[in-house]
Amino acid sequence: MRKIIFATNNAHKLEEVRAMLNGNVEVLSLSDIGCHEDIPETAPTLEGNALQKAHFVFDRYGLDVFADDTGLEVTALGMRPGVHTARYAFPDRHDPKANTLKLLGELADKADRTARFRTAIALIEGGKETLFEGIVTGTIATEERGTEGFGYDPVFVPDDADGKTFAELGTEVKNKISHRARAVQKLAEYLLEKS
Ligand code: IMP
Repeated sequence: MRKIIFATNNAHKLEEVRAMLNGNVEVLSLSDIGCHEDIPETAPTLEGNALQKAHFVFDRYGLDVFADDTGLEVTALGMRPGVHTARYAFPDRHDPKANTLKLLGELADKADRTARFRTAIALIEGGKETLFEGIVTGTIATEERGTEGFGYDPVFVPDDADGKTFAELGTEVKNKISHRARAVQKLAEYLLEKS
């Protein structure tokens, strides 16, 4: 069976990808191949970061690999925080609660609350690069709602979901319509066609 590395150690992401590939491709994590280094993410775009992470693994191990990067793009903020989504509130650390509060503060006087989550996936096979993208459009709520999920889920209201936030919809529903699910779906279709 074909083996491919997913440049992550996030158990949830691994499970999501493995489920979509339905046992037709073996997906290994960074720890499965003994890669315990901190992989740099210093590119100015989501695609650049995904490629940087995938290249880091391909250049060291020579194995086929893919990597992902996600950003929240808010229209009234000129598509910020974008590539800085994880460290939006503090440049040196990831504080999800502070990120959400900063976002609500920045949008307090804005009429346009539309936003989207965008995931870029970079695949490298034998040195050849292919990019996949997944987008979910929505709006930013005026206050936090719901308890499930992570990150900005309590304030992100996807379109066509009865006005509920991702955190109210719950992980099962979210994982069917999310940016990451859509990008992973495209990657899975591509890999399954070739397997
Ligand atoms: P990553 O590239 O998957 O690590 O995502 C970067 C950052 O985007 C995370 O640290 C979260 O703050 C945010 N993020 C990514 N995906 C989601 C999501 O599905 N819900 C809420 N926040 C997310």
